[in-house]
Formats: sequence, C-alpha cells, structure tokens
Amino acid sequence: MHVHLREPGGEDSETIVTGLKAAIAGGITTVGVMPNTFPPMDTPESILNLLSAAARCGLADVVPVPCVTKGRAGKELVSFLELHETGIYAFTDDGDPVHDSGLLLDALDAVYEFDGVIIEHPEVTDLSGGSVNRGTVSRKLGVTGIPCAAETADVARCMEIASNSHGHLHLTHLSLPRSVAIARAECFHSADVTIDVTPHHIALCEDALMEHGTLAKMNPPLRSAEQRKSLAEMVSSGMVDAIASDHAPHARYKKAGSIDEAAFGIVGLETLLPVTLEILRGLQMPVIRILHLLTCGPARILGIPLPVLEAGRKADLVLFDPQAEYRLSETGSFSKSVNTPFFERKLQGRVEAVWMGSVVYRDGEFEH
Ligand SMILES: [Zn+2]
Repeated sequence: MHVHLREPGGEDSETIVTGLKAAIAGGITTVGVMPNTFPPMDTPESILNLLSAAARCGLADVVPVPCVTKGRAGKELVSFLELHETGIYAFTDDGDPVHDSGLLLDALDAVYEFDGVIIEHPEVTDLSGGSVNRGTVSRKLGVTGIPCAAETADVARCMEIASNSHGHLHLTHLSLPRSVAIARAECFHSADVTIDVTPHHIALCEDALMEHGTLAKMNPPLRSAEQRKSLAEMVSSGMVDAIASDHAPHARYKKAGSIDEAAFGIVGLETLLPVTLEILRGLQMPVIRILHLLTCGPARILGIPLPVLEAGRKADLVLFDPQAEYRLSETGSFSKSVNTPFFERKLQGRVEAVWMGSVVYRDGEFEH
C-alpha cells in the first residue's frame, strides 16, 4: 500500500515496469503508488497516465494515491472530488507531512464526503534534520540524530486533528512503540484512524547502520533494539492495521557517499512477504493474521474491493512456500535498484507462482 515507483522523473532508480515486476516477484498483486514523482501526481491526467502505463505492463494492478496538496507543496488542497471521479479514494503528500493543520483538517472533512482517506507521513521537520536515530549509533557515527519526537509529536498533532473530523486518517510507517500507543490511546477512540508499520522497522534496529552503512539509512530511521522489539510485539498483538513495504528505490549514486549525503529509503517489494513472515511468525502470530496485514488490511484502507475466489472472476492469487529458504541477491532482483540491507539475510517464504487472470510469474520467471 506504500510504494515509490519513481516514474515520471526518477527513472534511473525505478520505472513502472521494473517496479511492478519486483512487486509480482514479491507476491504483491496490487500496488498503492505514492505521488512524489516529478511532476507530482496531482491531476486526473497524471492518475490516468499511471493507470494506463500499468495496464500496458499486464503485471500488478496499481492504486494511484495522488497528492493532498497541489504540487505536494503544502499550500493549497487538490480538488478531491475531481480526482475521486477517476476512482481514487486515498490521498497523501508522502515524503512530507501535511504541515498546515488547517489544510489537514479540511482535507479529512473533504474526503469524508466519499469515504476517502488521507494517508499522513508523520514528521516534524523542525526536529528531523539528522540522518539516523538519535542515540548511541548517531554518536558512534558522529552524525546528527533524529529524535523520536520528530515522529511522535506529529502523530499526536494528527490524532488531535482527526478527533475533530469524521474523515479517515491513516498514519503510515510508524517506527516507534510510542507512536502506536498514541494512535491507539483511549482518548482517541472516536477518531477514524488506521496505522501501518514497515517490515524493516520490526526486523532491524539502528545497529544495522554499523553493518550496512547507507543501505540501512531510511526515514523514519531505524530505532533502538528495545524499540524495535516492542514495535514488533505490538504488531503481533494486533495493534496495527497493515504492513507496508515503503519501497523506496534509489540508483547506486544516491546511496554512495557518506551517511549524511545518502538518500533515505530501501527497496522492499521483494522482501515484504518473507521478512514480515520471519518476524511475526517468530512472535507466534498465526500466518492467516499476518497475511491479513498484507492483503485485506491495506485493501480496506485504500478503499479497493477485496479479491474473490470465484468462478468467472479474475484470479488474483499468489502461491508461496512458507518453508522454502532462499537468499535474494542483486542479480536475482527485478527492481532497478538494489538498496537493501536484506540481500545477505536468509529469507523464508518464497513466491512460487502468481496469477493475474492467468499465470504471470512462475519459478522466478515471467510468462511474457
Ligand atoms: Zn513517508
């Protein structure tokens, strides 16, 4: 439900074709596409362009998630009804928060008219000028740290605003137990709020930076070992609504250089399923509930119909072997970018085949 395909404007990192191939290889048949392209996706034309480009690929389906504000500039709301007429329910300025609280409230009220949702990337940018989590690792690396408040303060702001609207707010890539606790606090139970976390925030802590360098640099940053553990336990106990890859491909040169210079983010489409399975099975979460976080959970948030297994309907199916062990490598990956700390990891849960109507992928190869 949270994927950066980079096209248009960032084709050296990913294209619609390579991104959707990586999705299918990762067992993902529908991709929620973020709007922070160049130009940003904020018009009916840009939505229709993405839909037709994806249809030409004949791979995964896409759900365009256009901007909340025009040009993603945070100054003026998009025309929600006009964009909704193209079949869109979800909107986001992801990459940035909607800083202007008045606009955020108006946006929630506006999408309530058609049961839409605003997906918010929580960040107080006055606090987030660093490169990694503020703590022992930022001190060891000698770089500026990002304090937890850069996320939690914005989660609190968003929750207060959502409490004043009937509109649905979705908080994405929460990286801290405290953020989940605020979003689930008793006092906010009347607000219509859903949340997701990423596989990397429940699988890795800030120590990964010492081993993987810029490949472990992401926003929000990897947190402390204790925070990672608590966050994973919150997910396994059913406190979040979805797991999102936050697939953020970057060409090699964008991850070269120092920790401070490198871009934030990692690719995640091909590791979403195995990494999520590894961490949550390790916490005794039933597989059917884990899969819910990757399928029905995101579909409900994005306002798309759930696939049905029924004669006469389009097959939308993934066959995977939950026991099969493998490792992903640069050469075996379908994404155009290779920025991930998970390549050396032993993965379990290999995708064997994917049907989108008919078989599109089997045993590591595409049918066309
Ligand atoms: Zn984001």
